[in-house]
Amino acid sequence: MNRKKIAAGNWKMHKTFTEGQGLVQEIRTMAETELMNNAQLLIFPPYIHLQSLAKQLEGSNIGIGAQNIHQNEQGAYTGEISAAMLTSIGIHYTLVGHSERRQYYNETNESCAAKIVTALKHNIVPVYCIGETLAEREANQHFSIVETQLGALKGLSNEGITICIIAYEPVWAIGTGVTASSAQANEMHIHIRKVIAGLFTENVAQGISILYGGSVKPENAKELFAQSDIDGALIGGAALASRDFINIAKSF
Ligand code: PEP
Repeated sequence: MNRKKIAAGNWKMHKTFTEGQGLVQEIRTMAETELMNNAQLLIFPPYIHLQSLAKQLEGSNIGIGAQNIHQNEQGAYTGEISAAMLTSIGIHYTLVGHSERRQYYNETNESCAAKIVTALKHNIVPVYCIGETLAEREANQHFSIVETQLGALKGLSNEGITICIIAYEPVWAIGTGVTASSAQANEMHIHIRKVIAGLFTENVAQGISILYGGSVKPENAKELFAQSDIDGALIGGAALASRDFINIAKSF
């Protein structure tokens, strides 16, 4: 199956307004002059950048999304951003359930399930992040933890799940410099596909893009992308440098 190849950059809480504009200008120029492999680039900057960077990226093939979305349509949720607010400024991607949101902001599989439904209702592609902690892997619970996290997708229609992107990010590999080996990552991606086939159909499972995240760099991207079931990367630290981000995208 010919799945979409994706390099997605999660900027987290980095880059001021002007720094963000500079980084996107560099990424756009490099992508347009060097990137010839049909890889889809996505960037997930902080909210304050979304409107201006979406404008800056008009006419390019680079997508832009939010790092989080609220599950409710509107209301008294101080500090939150709704799906309709995002689409009103032309944003059609969002991360859901990044491990830092699960760890620091009490996001659960249940709240992620609600966010995914809301995103899809508003024509926003959810990039659903899942992955086990080190303690869970050491206790040999990593496959069951990921299966439980994937339960957040259960209520979706076949049409809905087909729009989603999955990012497998073992928590012990995020921002630590420790990457899962390409074999460990691929083994989990195959497991994820099997769970999705069980929840939906084999065809759905074969079509969905599953990204790996956790200390991806230009030095390890090629080997990761060569694996049968790794369709791209969700990149943190290395997405903050245009050269590294583009070199990762050139590794397909
Ligand atoms: C991430 O933030 O999703 C991530 C994978 O970070 P890093 O690449 O820095 O490990």
